[in-house]
Amino acid sequence: MSLKLYNFLSKKIEEFKPIKNGEVGLYTCGPTAYNYVHIGNWRTFIFEDVLKRVLEFNGLNVSHVMNITDIDDKIIKKANDEKVDFKEITKKYEGVFFVDLKKLNILPAEKYTRATSYIQQMIDLIQKLLDKGVAYKGDDGIYFAVEKFKDYGKLSGLEKRELKKGARVNDDQYDKENWSDFALWKFPKGGEPSWPSPFGEGRPGWHIECSAMSIAELGDSFDIHTGGVDLLFPHHENEIAQSEAATGKKFVNFWMEGEHLLVEEEKMSKSLGNVYTLEDIVKGGFDPLALRYLFLTAHYRSKLNFTWKSLGAAQNALNNLREIVAGYQEAVIGCSEFEQRFKDSIDNDLDIPKGLSVMWEMVKSDYPDSAKHQSVLVMNKVLGLGLDKIAKAELPRGAEELIEKRELERKGGNFEESDKMRRELLEMGVEVEDTSEGPKWKIKKKN
Ligand SMILES: [Zn+2]
Repeated sequence: MSLKLYNFLSKKIEEFKPIKNGEVGLYTCGPTAYNYVHIGNWRTFIFEDVLKRVLEFNGLNVSHVMNITDIDDKIIKKANDEKVDFKEITKKYEGVFFVDLKKLNILPAEKYTRATSYIQQMIDLIQKLLDKGVAYKGDDGIYFAVEKFKDYGKLSGLEKRELKKGARVNDDQYDKENWSDFALWKFPKGGEPSWPSPFGEGRPGWHIECSAMSIAELGDSFDIHTGGVDLLFPHHENEIAQSEAATGKKFVNFWMEGEHLLVEEEKMSKSLGNVYTLEDIVKGGFDPLALRYLFLTAHYRSKLNFTWKSLGAAQNALNNLREIVAGYQEAVIGCSEFEQRFKDSIDNDLDIPKGLSVMWEMVKSDYPDSAKHQSVLVMNKVLGLGLDKIAKAELPRGAEELIEKRELERKGGNFEESDKMRRELLEMGVEVEDTSEGPKWKIKKKN
């Protein structure tokens, strides 16, 4: 296999080899269904989509599992604030998420797992950790004893963090500067949703959700686990600790994390009012796929600065590409030289920006249209820009005959007549270009 991926565990680019020949188990941390997903999250989901497409491009069969967190601190807070059942909150935002996923042309996962449907698996996992003595009962919940897991920190590195001995955190999202024991199971505070368990009524902590669901669906050990880089610590670190302490096996071979999205050079935050959603993008007059295009222009391990101007440039590039593809003849045998260079780029730790530039180089090359069309369709399998769904441009009535007549006049040296016909065609909205392969036309953009 020529596919190489950066592994956050070894901090190196490694050749990718699946555990089971030809099969890949992929787990991606999904959304918490309590709010609209912002474009920073979308950047992560698009990176994961591209990863899946590249794996499939390499002939691998991917089992992709994505969780939907439908119970956690934030959901409960929102439900309490709005005085509704927490399920009303999660149902609403989950619905919006799936609609947006489609708009961004993100391939659906083979399975979406909802945390509330895996409570028993979480209880079983916590029980194992209690039996092994790596978990203990605190006054407000069951905790994971970080000190008991000697590999703690192998993903995120702990040099910069201080171990607060005996310190415990009950919150799902906690201080990134310190590490401490974290909650696996939380005893209910007044009115919180809860489930019965052998170690007391309660609800799962956020981190245990992903361990229990990924193991249930993909096995004790699987190939790739991804998320946004902000999940590296504590979420992913805790997932490793819980899973490996319980099973005694290596949890995941490859950890891949997508970098942050900045907005106008700043971190997205409510106070700056720059937390944009896909709805904001559409309201701004942009196509969701223009956002996808913009994300493809940066490598997933580099920060990307979102600006409305850069989105505008992405929209223009996408429009141009669509217009070019609409003018292409039927796709036949592609340009193998460019397809190979494209594959070399994407196989090099998903160098999509390079792949995109290879595609543009090909589009501008002298290859016949039919070949370029074929290769565009091949590359689109990874890029997911909807270039396979572009309707062929159609000539207005009478234009085809006029183009043929004009060509005869031109060949006969009657340039005055052929220029007149060119102007007539322009009035019909058809632009004709004379090439060595004969006349080529395209529909002029209406202003
Ligand atoms: Zn997760």
